[in-house]
Amino acid sequence: MLLLLALAVPDAFARTALEIDAASSQLSLAPHTSFYHDEKGSDDLAAADRHLQQGAFKPLPGDNPSFGFQDGAYWFHAVVHNQGNPESKWLLVQEYALSDRIDVYARYGDGRLVHSAGGDHLPFDQRNIRYRQPNFWLNLPPGQTVDLLVRVQSESSMQVPLTLYASDAFIEQSRDAQLAIGLYYGILLALFTYNLVLWLTLRDASYFWYLFHITAFGLVLFTLNGLGFEYLWPRSAWLADHMVPLSICLALIGMQQFARNFLELKQRWRFGDRVALGIIVFFVLLGIAATVLPYSKVTPLASAAVFPSICWILIETVVVLRRGYKPAKLFLLAWFLFLLGTGMFSAIAFDLLPKNFITEYGVQIGSALEMLLLSVALGYRYAALRNENERIVREARDQLEQKVEMRTSELRNALVQLEDAHHQLSESSRHDGLTELYNRTHFREAFEHLLSEARNSRRPISLLMIDLDHFKKINDTYGHLVGDDCLRCTSNTMAEILAPYNALLARFGGEEFIAALPGMDLSQASAVAEELRQSLHDRPCVSGDLVIGVSASIGVHSVDIAAKDSIESALQVADQALYAAKAEGRDCVRTL
Ligand code: GH3
Ligand code: MG
Ligand code: MG
Repeated sequence: MLLLLALAVPDAFARTALEIDAASSQLSLAPHTSFYHDEKGSDDLAAADRHLQQGAFKPLPGDNPSFGFQDGAYWFHAVVHNQGNPESKWLLVQEYALSDRIDVYARYGDGRLVHSAGGDHLPFDQRNIRYRQPNFWLNLPPGQTVDLLVRVQSESSMQVPLTLYASDAFIEQSRDAQLAIGLYYGILLALFTYNLVLWLTLRDASYFWYLFHITAFGLVLFTLNGLGFEYLWPRSAWLADHMVPLSICLALIGMQQFARNFLELKQRWRFGDRVALGIIVFFVLLGIAATVLPYSKVTPLASAAVFPSICWILIETVVVLRRGYKPAKLFLLAWFLFLLGTGMFSAIAFDLLPKNFITEYGVQIGSALEMLLLSVALGYRYAALRNENERIVREARDQLEQKVEMRTSELRNALVQLEDAHHQLSESSRHDGLTELYNRTHFREAFEHLLSEARNSRRPISLLMIDLDHFKKINDTYGHLVGDDCLRCTSNTMAEILAPYNALLARFGGEEFIAALPGMDLSQASAVAEELRQSLHDRPCVSGDLVIGVSASIGVHSVDIAAKDSIESALQVADQALYAAKAEGRDCVRTL
């Protein structure tokens, strides 16, 4: 009955049969196909046949079997005749992987009806051949005619590019496609692994978002070409439906986050960063919506948003590049190649470019180059960051060195000053404040030294004990200040007279002085003492208007080196000689 109906199709509505001649091995059904839109999706085979009889089937517009997102079901009709090709086993391939449900009805001249079903709402292992696109065996011995009715129902885009392959032709073309796909995912996998290692070592967020982007983008293509259903969710109709919008949203989130991170948008272009964040929020919400809303509502929206989203990344890159961020150069080239590849692929659909390997695989070639360049750009950026860090560290170290040098020289100055102060302090501790002669303490130390030198060299050494005469009277007469002037004046005279003799002169206390004369015996010392006494006598002291005569009594003692006199006893003897001088009328020199 069906056969009769089929053969009775009025000529006006039937298209020419697809003739398989001896040389044919791969044939597109589109030029021989007519279609009918069952808007409610409720027609069965008998109803479809009725429509066929009634001439409701129309040729494909422009032989293009694409109708966009559609409700209900589509019926396609074609007659295939094997003129004389010895091959009798043919494979009908639906070269679009995402259709939900495909029913193929093959009707033979002898009345046989063979029904087979496919699509991603049926488990993958029900396919005739384990292949990413739905496929159906057709038995077509030479001379046979088969009447094909194909019903397609899908939430995805209604695209039904049916191709008939001889089995060896199918093997050949699938080999080529498999190589291209293998190459593409091989590159992606290598880039993924390489950058995963870098991310694990460097912990730079840019690498993470690159991995996120590359994974999600790989997933988009994996889903679109049917490999996702074949290898990842062969039994899940839900994932088969939802993975397209979900993976697009994930890829776009990854893209934007990667661009934000790589371009350091937050610091370099705040407005651009806010817009990018807005885009990310949009795709997050769309991703969530994709899990509940119908595929046909979300997918077109997600697909339409891809182009502006990538354009925005290009704009961000140009802005940041113009602000002097060098790593953005490679980044720009990467996205440009991606857009170029995708653009070339789209251009084939509008017949703007001829279909060849480069244009047909534009998306894959463009995205592979993009991801490769992005990986290089990441390396470049990392090197730039490392150089910048090294520069900062070097500068900090230089500054630190400068500071240390400054502090060291300050410290050195402070030490010099301290040394000066110490020197001054020790000098002042050795000197008498009024006369600036050595004080008694220093005299003892220095005399001890002279004494041991004298003993070692067996040279004589003598002492002069000098006391100013009646000095109390000067104080009483002229006051202490004048007395002080007189002490200074006589000190100067004594220092001047004794200087040529290398004498050690000190103020012993009050108006009493002591001098050591190294290398002099008693008579030489007595002569110097006499010279000194005479000089003091001859040079009155001047204080203001006053001229005051000052005399001194001097006791002389030559230290007995061999007897090892102590300093105390030597001083005592000199003092006794001084007493003698006082007792004998003052202003004279005496020895004991
Ligand atoms: P003589 O001839 O016996 O030594 O009589 P003198 O008055 O010099 O001796 P005396 O020991 O009686 O007195 C010493 C005086 O020297 C007493 C003191 O006022 C004075 N004199 C001691 N040291 C200083 C001083 O630093 N400045 C002044 N202006 N007078 C001093
Ligand atoms: Mg005196
Ligand atoms: Mg005295």
